[in-house]
Amino acid sequence: MHVTVISPDIYTYGAMLIGGILREGGYDVSVGRKYAAPPSETVFLSLYSTLHLLDPRLKDFISRHRERGGRCYVGGPVSAYPEIVLGELEPDAVVVGEGENTVLSLLQTGPVPDLPGIAVREGGRIRINPPEIPASLDRPIPLIPDDIGTQDIRGANVYIETHRGCLGSCTFCQVPRFFGHDIRSRTIDSVLAEVRAFKEKGMRRVSISGGTGSLFQYENGTLNTAAFIELLSGMADIMGSSNISAPDIRADCINDEILEAIKKYTIGWIFFGIESGSDRILRLMGKGITAATVSDAIDECRNHGLSVAGSFIVGFPTETAKDFQATKKFIASAGLDDVFVSIAEPIPETPLAKLVLDTPQKDNPSCVPTKGEYRSLGLTESEARCFDLSMHADMYKPRLHVVTDQIFDAYLTEVRRQGTDIRNVTDLLFRYYGRDDGPG
Ligand code: SF4
Repeated sequence: MHVTVISPDIYTYGAMLIGGILREGGYDVSVGRKYAAPPSETVFLSLYSTLHLLDPRLKDFISRHRERGGRCYVGGPVSAYPEIVLGELEPDAVVVGEGENTVLSLLQTGPVPDLPGIAVREGGRIRINPPEIPASLDRPIPLIPDDIGTQDIRGANVYIETHRGCLGSCTFCQVPRFFGHDIRSRTIDSVLAEVRAFKEKGMRRVSISGGTGSLFQYENGTLNTAAFIELLSGMADIMGSSNISAPDIRADCINDEILEAIKKYTIGWIFFGIESGSDRILRLMGKGITAATVSDAIDECRNHGLSVAGSFIVGFPTETAKDFQATKKFIASAGLDDVFVSIAEPIPETPLAKLVLDTPQKDNPSCVPTKGEYRSLGLTESEARCFDLSMHADMYKPRLHVVTDQIFDAYLTEVRRQGTDIRNVTDLLFRYYGRDDGPG
């Protein structure tokens, strides 16, 4: 039997992982990035964004494929809210949570209602069977497409998974809700075997998947610095240090040895999820660190000769003009080498989504028009802050950045796109969980 695994637009690691498990299970499998599959066969859709649930092309593909006798199953991060997936896309089933233990049984039995790890419609109700958590993260080599070397995700062809779980509890983030707070790590040998396999298929640049890279093999409340260094050093032996990107790391999960290893075995960048310069907003976000902790971490990185990038989230519910000014001040003093700004996205089932549902619209910057400097552009307050902060950050980067008309237009287009996406996700939230007086 032939099976297709599709992840929209990019080959996600998760889609390749499921492809590898199905191949090992004896199936003829392909992994694709477009909505296409021969009639009558089974399709697994690995969806990593809530916006996929609102994509009419995807809904149309699933409906047509099922009409032609094929089966469609949806998994990936969106499976954290199976009611919405079933309601919006109407697949045969949702593979809930970590899908490794589910996909082979699902192919053997079909979506029988009592199968662990799936969500299905049963009569007029939705039945959700919790998944079995994999006892070990050892698994077959992923199914790697021949053109993997052409993919570019933030400068890397692939983000390889080294561990699951996060100690953090950031209220906007899905990672601890999806994988839990316990850190479950792979063995160094298995990660390195995978890096070799990707390289043989044409991978040129590799990074470690999101979360906090230095939590690799974290045990008994302690960072396993030696294991992290061995991992990076082994990856550098295979790929060369100029082809390995620094992993995302929490500002409170570093030490001198970790920073030295990042300098020695990677391209020498570190990426912090800073999010805000306001301690009030950081508390509301559940970051568990203060702006001062991040400032100190940036200084430590500089002492090791690393370049530092940071991401910021604007438009968190109840974020005031004063909070926003604190973020601008932080950026001015930090002089980050690169900055990414996004509007707070209320991913369903996160505490942020609940906060958005509970916050009066007048206190949600994503729901009110700006009255400030950019009001003539017709932006919401969140869009205006995203736009303002992007240009502000450029002024304080160590290398000269001039905001030309082209850059101004590019930022404006980007914040409008983000604003529209956030409104659509917020509408979706209110449709499934919301008050009658919510948007939409
Ligand atoms: S530290 Fe990063 S991965 Fe962990 S919960 Fe916060 S944002 Fe998510």
